[in-house]
Order: sequence, then C-alpha cells, then structure tokens
Amino acid sequence: MVSKRLNGIPASGTVALSNLVSYMKTRGVDIVSFSMGEPDFVTPQNIIEACKESLDAGFTHYTPSPGIPELRKAVAAKAFSDNKIPCTAQNVLITPCKHAIFMSALAFLDPKDEVILPDPSWVSYEACIRLAGAKPVYIPTKFDENFVVDPARIAEAITPKTKMILLNSPSNPTGSVMPCQTVREIAKIAIDNNLTVLSDEIYESIIYEGKHFSIAAVRDMFDRTITISGLSKTYAMTGWRLGWAIAPEGCIKELDKLQTHSISCCVSFTQPAAVEAINGSQEEKDSMVKEFRKRRDLAVDLIREIKGLEVNVPKGAFYLFPKYSSKVKSEVLCTKMLEDAHVAVTPGSAFGPCGEGFFRLSYATSEDQIREGLSRIKKFMSNL
Ligand code: GLU
Repeated sequence: MVSKRLNGIPASGTVALSNLVSYMKTRGVDIVSFSMGEPDFVTPQNIIEACKESLDAGFTHYTPSPGIPELRKAVAAKAFSDNKIPCTAQNVLITPCKHAIFMSALAFLDPKDEVILPDPSWVSYEACIRLAGAKPVYIPTKFDENFVVDPARIAEAITPKTKMILLNSPSNPTGSVMPCQTVREIAKIAIDNNLTVLSDEIYESIIYEGKHFSIAAVRDMFDRTITISGLSKTYAMTGWRLGWAIAPEGCIKELDKLQTHSISCCVSFTQPAAVEAINGSQEEKDSMVKEFRKRRDLAVDLIREIKGLEVNVPKGAFYLFPKYSSKVKSEVLCTKMLEDAHVAVTPGSAFGPCGEGFFRLSYATSEDQIREGLSRIKKFMSNL
C-alpha cells in the first residue's frame, strides 16, 4: 500500500524515542529522559495570557494562509533588526518550523537534485530531502573541530546536480555554532555555484559564546536563501507548533501554495500570542538561556568524570554530543542504556553516518535530572 516515496524512510528517531519514553513513564518506569530537544520550562505567562485573550475574543477561525499581518510584520521587523535580513512582511510565511522544512524540500527540489548538508545533522532533513526525490550529500564534520563544517569540503562536494546547501547553526545534534567567517565563505560558494541555501536557525537565541549570524544577511544572499526559525525553543513553545520561513517573495508564494493545500494556515488564536512573544518582554527568554548555560556546564563537568566518554563544550543549542570509547553501535548502546539504566539518549547514528560512536543528550531538563541521569550513565558505562 505504501508509496515508493515513503517506503524505506524511517520514522523520526527523536520523536519515536520520545513516544517510547512517554509510554514507559505511563507504565510507571522511572526514566530520566535526555531524549527530546524541548525546554522543560512552561511558556512565559505574558504569551499564555495573550493566547487566552485571543480565545476569549473569539479569534477561532481560519487566518490568511501566510499568517496574520501583525505577526508577519513582527517577524520581519525582528529579522530585520536582530538578524540583519533585508526583509519585509511580504517575505514571511507563518508556518510550523518543521513544516517549513518539509515544504521547502517539496517546493525547491526536483528528483535527482543533490543537497549538501553537514554530518551529523538533525534527523528530519534527510527524510525531507528523500521525500522530494532528491539526494542528501553529507559533509563530514569532526569532534576535534567542534563539528563546524569546513567550507572547503562543501566546495569539493559540489557537482552539476547540486541544488542546495542546508545549514543549521546552532546545530542539532552537536550544539556547534558556525563562526561568521565560515558563514561568509559558504555564502561565496553558494553565489559562485548558483545554489539555494536552506538555513534552519531555530536555535538562534540559544547561544552562550559568540554571536548568531544569518547567512541571508550576507550581501547578495537574500535572493537565494530560505531562513527558517520559530518560537519553539526560544520561548519554550514546542507544543504550539509555530514558526516561520523568510525568503524572497516569489519563494514565499510557492511555499504558501503548498500551505493552502496542506494545513491552510497555522492555528489562529496562537498567532496574536506569537506577536506578544516577539514584541513583549524578553526577560524570561534571557533567564532561560542563562539557565541552559548553567546546565550545559554542569552536564559537561559530570560527563568528563565518566570513564569512556569525551565531550566538547558546545557554544549553542541545548545538546551535548559525547563520544564513547566502546565499539558497540550507538543504537545498541542507547537501547541498553534505556533498558538497564532507565536513561533515554538519542543514538548518534540517527543523525547521519558521522554520528556513529556518539549519542545526543538534551540538557533542557532540570539540574536534579541531569545529576541523577549522569550518575546512572556513569554506573552503566562502568559495567559496559
Ligand atoms: N527537534 C527536536 C529534537 O531533535 C524535537 C523532535 C524533533 O522534531 O525531531 O529532539
């Protein structure tokens, strides 16, 4: 029954693991979960109030498919001032971030096109590329280089079939942040080879050292870049499913066409709340980032006490990507860790071939859970 397109594409490793953890928890198993990339904080109260107000006002119908004008305007103003992206509201489509990636693959890739992306990379990029009939071309990144992609390796991988470069900084799963110079070098490669860039910047606000730099801000890049971001990670709004794509107006029209045929529009009453998230007080956002930084430092210190694990200190996002010394496959290691130690982490292999020998740990959870989980991992590793 299944289409050739879908056949052979696995379910999302991150979501599948999170489903399993939820199921085990409902069965009473005491799991420490470092699996899902989602802040444990509740969405800030001012945003929740704005949502309640829009519900009370009866704002419960369809909105224009690209989003309510106030939100498109707020996103454009934020991207213009913070990211230096030369955009207006007409360049913004309000859509869940993951849907933006999915639609971008369908809208801008043809069968046999090649897409260059770093290895390891977030689990759903490869699936989206393959669903569009295109081919992922992984560029290995290295633990010793903090997993920052080397532009020279991108240049070497270009063929006549290359259509797109996919970037994600800060990165899921490694937390690596591309320095400004790397972004500029990749931009030059894209311009010289007439390539489209899909830049997933969902972790743009969670940076501890250095600065986020949007590739669409580089001169002559706006016309060839689709920038994707959203509210999920920045404002602890994962369940709201609210994000955006910023691109040239023609590209936004094509994405909007797909939106009209798929979800029609984002949920109506969350959109005024998203305006509040962007334009309202940023105090809670800032304190969440400070808290993540403390947790990162704690988790790194505790991991460095564990024999058989090595980890570097990522500059952004809320993931650690430790390397383990045992020869077992990461999927086997993580299954065993879940069964024996009741700790959930994601196997590195879910993120691409270079992820083998690693696992991803999301530290967007409480300090108590970090201490408890890492003490269980310590015991587990010593018995391995
Ligand atoms: N992006 C998060 C993660 O990697 C949420 C799950 C997903 O969308 O893959 O854990």
